[in-house]
Amino acid sequence: MTTQTPGTTPAEVSDFYDVYNSLLRKYWDDNFHFGYWQDEADDSSIAVATDRFTDIMISKLPVGPGARVLDVGCGIGKPALRLAQQTGATVVGISINQQQIDEGNARAVAEGLADRVSFQQANALELPFEDGSFDAVLAFESICHMPRLPALKEMSRVLVPGGRIALTDLIKIEDPDGTAAAAGFQSQALVRYSDYPALTAAAGVEIDELIDVSAHTKRTYAAMAEGISRGTDEIVEKFGPGVVNVLQAVAAPLGPAASVGCLIMAGHRAA
Ligand code: SAH
Repeated sequence: MTTQTPGTTPAEVSDFYDVYNSLLRKYWDDNFHFGYWQDEADDSSIAVATDRFTDIMISKLPVGPGARVLDVGCGIGKPALRLAQQTGATVVGISINQQQIDEGNARAVAEGLADRVSFQQANALELPFEDGSFDAVLAFESICHMPRLPALKEMSRVLVPGGRIALTDLIKIEDPDGTAAAAGFQSQALVRYSDYPALTAAAGVEIDELIDVSAHTKRTYAAMAEGISRGTDEIVEKFGPGVVNVLQAVAAPLGPAASVGCLIMAGHRAA
C-alpha cells in the first residue's frame, strides 16, 4: 500500500499532467475529478456532475470564514475556488504540476478571490507547512497518485488536532486482490473500500464517514469516452503520434470501468 508504483513518482505524475491538463480541460472539464450522478435517470452534463461532486465534498468540510483549508492535489483550482466562494474560508492549494499552479492563481485573480485563495507548487509527500497549520484538508481524487500512507500522514501532520480531512479515492470494486492499477491515470495500485479503516488508523486519522459512491460516479467513463471520441482527430493532430499512448491511457478504464469505483472518506486528525 505504501510502495511507489512504477510510473507514479511525483515527477512522472507532473509530466503526465503537462500533457493531460489541456486535454482534460477541452474534453472533460476544469474539474479534474469524477462526476457524481444522482441515479440512472440523471443525465446531467459533465460540468454539472463534477460541480455536484465538489459540493458534496464541501459539505464534508464544515468550514467558514477564517478557517484555513489546504487542498492537496488542487488541479487547476476549480474546486478550491468554489470552496472559498461558498464557505468564506481561506484556501491554499498545492499541486506537483507548475502549469496547474499558474492557471489556479490566474483564476483566483480573475474571480476576485486572490486575497483568500492561493496556489503553490509542492509535493504532497513533503508538505512545506508547519505541523497544525490548517483547520481542514481536502484531497479530491489526488491520493490515488500517491503512496497513500505517507501522503495521509503528511495531511494529518499539517492539521490541527481534531481538524477535518475529506478525500476521495479510486477503489477497486471487483478485483479480489485489489492490485490492479487504474491504468491510464498514472495512479497507484488501487485499494479497496475495506482497506480504508486500517490505512487511516495508521495515519492517525479517525474516520467519521466512509461512503462508497461508485454507483454515482460510474457514468464518468462513458462521458469521458464520448468527449475523447469527439476530439480524437484534433487531439492526434495537436499532440502528434505520441498522444496515442495518452489516448489509450484514457480509454483503458473503459473495459474494466465497472470495477473502478470511488469512495469518500471524511474524518479528523486524532487529538
Ligand atoms: N483535486 C483536483 C485535481 C485532481 S487531479 C480536482 O478535483 O480538480 C490529481 C491532482 O493531484 C493533480 O493536481 C496532480 O498534480 C496532483 N498530484 C498528484 N501527485 C501529487 C504529489 N505528489 N504532490 C502534489 N500534488 C500531486
